[in-house]
Amino acid sequence: MQNSKDTYIRPATLEEALQHLEKEPFSVAAGCTDLLPATERKVLPGPVLDISAIASLRGITAGPDGVTIGATTTWSDLRTADLPPAFNGLRQAAAEVGALQIQNRGTIAGNLCNASPAADGVPPLLTLDAEVELASKAGTRRLPIGDFIVGPRQTARLTDELVTAIHIPARATNGTGNFLKLGARKYLVISIAMAAARIELTDGIVTDAALALGACGPVATRLPEAEAALTGAPVDPSRITDDHLAPHLSPIDDMRADADYRRAAALELIRRTVDQPVESRAA
Ligand SMILES: Cc1cc2nc3c(=O)[nH]c(=O)nc-3n(C[C@H](O)[C@H](O)[C@H](O)COP(=O)(O)OP(=O)(O)OC[C@H]3O[C@@H](n4cnc5c(N)ncnc54)[C@H](O)[C@@H]3O)c2cc1C
Repeated sequence: MQNSKDTYIRPATLEEALQHLEKEPFSVAAGCTDLLPATERKVLPGPVLDISAIASLRGITAGPDGVTIGATTTWSDLRTADLPPAFNGLRQAAAEVGALQIQNRGTIAGNLCNASPAADGVPPLLTLDAEVELASKAGTRRLPIGDFIVGPRQTARLTDELVTAIHIPARATNGTGNFLKLGARKYLVISIAMAAARIELTDGIVTDAALALGACGPVATRLPEAEAALTGAPVDPSRITDDHLAPHLSPIDDMRADADYRRAAALELIRRTVDQPVESRAA
């Protein structure tokens, strides 16, 4: 039997949720901070599968393989979590998503699945080499975040899959992260552009650099040429040039900024993200 538009299901276990998704597509609801504004109605059109009661999907765990962030972990959970300095960028992004009310409801997987080009979680997760875990009744798979978000508002998630976790491999938990967001004001604002960095130093020399930009193209992107330019020398933001960024930028003109402004902002933001006090990167 087909579920009706009024169907609302709130399972307590992942197994139960996947059983429902196997039978037919649902609108998956987590914090609803993207879902509800996207509808003109006061209630979500169904059928709705609300995953907020599945306790196993929420929380942060660390082990020898790295750090696992459950899908329904909220921005407030992340903001206040005890995480290594590599996660400073992600925690900073968490503190700048909307405002406290949004951070209390909005989840990390919701941010990724909504796949907005301006999703603040994506650049810091790119610098952490994050992998997205997807589960269905057929099994579990992992995708690098760059393969999961395939376009604006488009992901590789199949209709019978749930995002269950985000994994940060152990190798990416080293170094120190940073995140800067440019908006028209400090809070409750959609990014004009944002930048994230994770830098690892050995004896004052950059031994690993991971840089990413968001809201400067259809999807957020890593910056391999700029990363290479920083590596093997003391931290020097001026080593990053427009030429390193150009292949990865295709900004749009919109009500928040025009493309030229976004290009200029991107270079300035990524340089500032790298230019944090060097001592804060010490292990
Ligand atoms: C006032 C306001 C301010 C905001 N400010 C910001 C901001 O500054 N920066 C920013 O990046 N975002 C912002 N947002 C957007 C939003 O809060 C975030 O993207 C948030 O992380 C979404 O999470 P959620 O749990 O509410 O997602 P939901 O709205 O519940 O879901 C979003 C999408 O993801 C899907 N989904 C959710 N979880 C899963 C899952 N586990 N598996 C499969 N599919 C899933 C849903 O089906 C839906 O398509 C703002 C929103 C509002 C209303």
